[in-house]
Order: sequence, then structure tokens, then C-alpha cells
Amino acid sequence: MLVDTHCHLNFKDFKDDRDEVLKRSLDNNIWVINVGSQLSTSQRAVEIAEQYDEGVYAIIGLHPIHLYPQHVDEPEQNLDFDARAEKFDKEAYKKLAESKKVVGIGEMGIDYFHMPDGYDEQEVKNYQKQVFLQGLELAQELDLPVTIHTRPSKNSFDAYDDVLEVLEKANYNKCVVHCFGGNIQQAKRFLDMGLLLSFTGIVTFKNAPEIQEIAKITPLEQMMVETDSPYLSPEPNRGKRNEPSYTQFVAEKIAEIKGIEFSKVADATTNTARKFFNI
Ligand SMILES: [Zn+2]
Repeated sequence: MLVDTHCHLNFKDFKDDRDEVLKRSLDNNIWVINVGSQLSTSQRAVEIAEQYDEGVYAIIGLHPIHLYPQHVDEPEQNLDFDARAEKFDKEAYKKLAESKKVVGIGEMGIDYFHMPDGYDEQEVKNYQKQVFLQGLELAQELDLPVTIHTRPSKNSFDAYDDVLEVLEKANYNKCVVHCFGGNIQQAKRFLDMGLLLSFTGIVTFKNAPEIQEIAKITPLEQMMVETDSPYLSPEPNRGKRNEPSYTQFVAEKIAEIKGIEFSKVADATTNTARKFFNI
């Protein structure tokens, strides 16, 4: 068994065949946690989860990319949408969290890769940190874990340091850094704080030696696996639409990197995910 701890079957990419994709995943014994990026996709993640007795869950939150109006277009990541500048409506998320299927807050965090045009850079950064802190406070209030999104500006690791700064301020470590892409020193700092790191299909890419090194040094009990579907499809499906059943390829690669059996990675990451998200 595996748990895809971060995917987006709630996104429009899956509107025509979501049930089939979910069935394929559950038939392969892979549980699925759909993650919201704003209120509407968070609501959809909850609706989907409520259709299943077991194996499908939701995480709700406001992604930093949605804090300002901007057109996001990044073909190599299959990203193409308009962000509409949403305020973090804590009460609305709190209400949504009344569903038993909500197992975490996220994805929230810091994204300096997509900065809106026409705004002061420092102001945008401060606002992102402020909203991230509000998400951490909500999670603390509800005693839920947090899925953290972090994307630095080009050729930089800056956003990871700022995430660490906010985490220290909030003094909350029941968090996972999803799709970890910082450097080794930063990875060690997160691990020392007791956070979890989560790995996507990037770990299978030939041009990602640093992520592979980080996967190698991350203790099994502090790591989880995910797909971030529809994005970041692992080898051998790189470039195609990703789906939760491909979590298998991520876990297989981690087993290869660590030089251990696949079943060890599957058991450990599944246990960690079930404990972390209380599922
Ligand atoms: Zn995501």
C-alpha cells in the first residue's frame, strides 16, 4: 500500500475522468489526498473525499499564487490559469474543516517564482508570509497538520529560508514540506525541527542529483511520497499528465536511491502518512 499525500484530482485537468483515475489508484492500493489551492478547489477536494468511505481525503487552504491577480503560464509544468486575488477567509476554511474528510491545512506557504506584475516585491513577500502564518495558526487551532508549498525565485533557495522564519515564529512543526526542492543544508534544518519532507516524481529525473541526495539522507520515518498530479509526472511518464497510481514510481526510485527494498519504503511512508494525517 502507498499514500499519494499530495495531488489535485480536484483540478479541471481531471474533470472528465476523475472517477476512473481514482478507481485506478484505489485498485492499486494507493490512497489519495487531494489538496486545495483556494476556497473553490478546497471545497471540491472535500466533495470528492465525501463520496468515498475510505482512501480519499482532503487538505484545504490558500496557495500563495492565488493572493494576487496574475496570469500563470508555465508550459513545461502544464500550468495555465488566472489567479484572482483571494483573501484568506479563515472562517470559511474553518467551516469546511468540519468535514471529517479534511485531514490537513494547505497547500499554503511561499512562492517567489510567480510574482505578480505591478506590485512592490517586498510587500508581496511580506503578505505571503503573513497569510502563511494565518494558515499555521488555523492549523494549530484545529490541531491539523500543514502541507507547505515552497517555490523559490529562479536560481535561488530564498523561499525556503523564509518558510523556516515563519515556522519559527509560529512555533509549529506538525508540517510537511511538499515537493521538497531546497538545498541539503535547508533540508537538514527542516528535519532537525522535526518536520517531514515529501518527494514527487522529480526524484526520478536525471537532472535532479541534489534532490536524490536529500532523499538519501532523509530518514524513512520523516518522509512521505506524493505525485502532485496533474504536474511533475515521474519517469517513465515524464511530460504526461500525472496521476496518483504513479506514486509507485516515486517510491521505487527512493528504494533504489536508499539501496533498500521497495516494501520498506512503501510500509514506512504509508505508516508515516497515516499517522501524520490521522487516516
Ligand atoms: Zn500541489
